[in-house]
Amino acid sequence: MFNLILFGPPGSGKGTQSEKLIAKYNFKHLSTGDLLRNEISKKTPLGLEAKKFMDKGQLVPDEVVIGMISSALDNNPNVVGFLFDGFPRTAAQAEALDKLLELKHQSINVMLALDVSEEELVKRLQKRGETSGRTDDNQQVIRTRILEYNRKTSPVSDYYRKSKKAVMVKGEGTIEEIFKGLTKEIDSRIHKK
Ligand code: AMP
Repeated sequence: MFNLILFGPPGSGKGTQSEKLIAKYNFKHLSTGDLLRNEISKKTPLGLEAKKFMDKGQLVPDEVVIGMISSALDNNPNVVGFLFDGFPRTAAQAEALDKLLELKHQSINVMLALDVSEEELVKRLQKRGETSGRTDDNQQVIRTRILEYNRKTSPVSDYYRKSKKAVMVKGEGTIEEIFKGLTKEIDSRIHKK
C-alpha cells in the first residue's frame, strides 16, 4: 500500500488536487471535511455535534475525527492506498493515525504539503464562498479557520518533518502545474517500492 497525506491550509487546493490524484492512482480518498459534511447532511448525532464547530471555523474534537478515520480504515481493507485530505489536523491526530496504521502493519509513505501564500489563500477562499454553498466560506469564519490552522495544524508538518516524510510542493500556479509537482514526488516514491 502507498499512503499519502495531502497537507496544506484551507484554500490551498487539497480538494481539487485530491480528485486528480485519485483519478490517476486509484487511491481511496479520505477527506474528513467531506465525511463530516456527509454526517451533517444526514443529520446524524455526530454531524449535528460537528456542525457547531465547523460553522464557527473551529476544529472538530480529535476523538470525533479519529473515530471516523478508524472506521474508514476498517471499512476499506483492500485498497491500493489511502489519500488523507484534511487529516491529520492536530499533533494528536497524527499520533493516532500512526497507531491505527501500525495495527494494520501499514504506515504513511509521504506527506505532501501545498505551499500557498496567505494573501492568495484569502483570495481563493472568498471566491469559493461565492459559489461553494459551504457555510464556512465567509470572511469571519475564514479568519478563524486560518487561525486554527496556524495554531493547531501547522505543527503537524513538524511531526512528519521529524520522520523525514514531509515534502513541500508549490501550491501556486495552474492546477496542472501543481498536479505535476505532486505526481513527481509520488512517482519517485511509488516506483522505489
Ligand atoms: P475541510 O473541508 O477540510 O476544509 O474541513 C472543513 C471543516 O471541517 C474544518 O474547518 C473543521 O471544522 C472540520 N474538520 C475537517 N477535518 C478535520 C479534522 N481532521 N480535525 C478537526 N476538524 C476537522
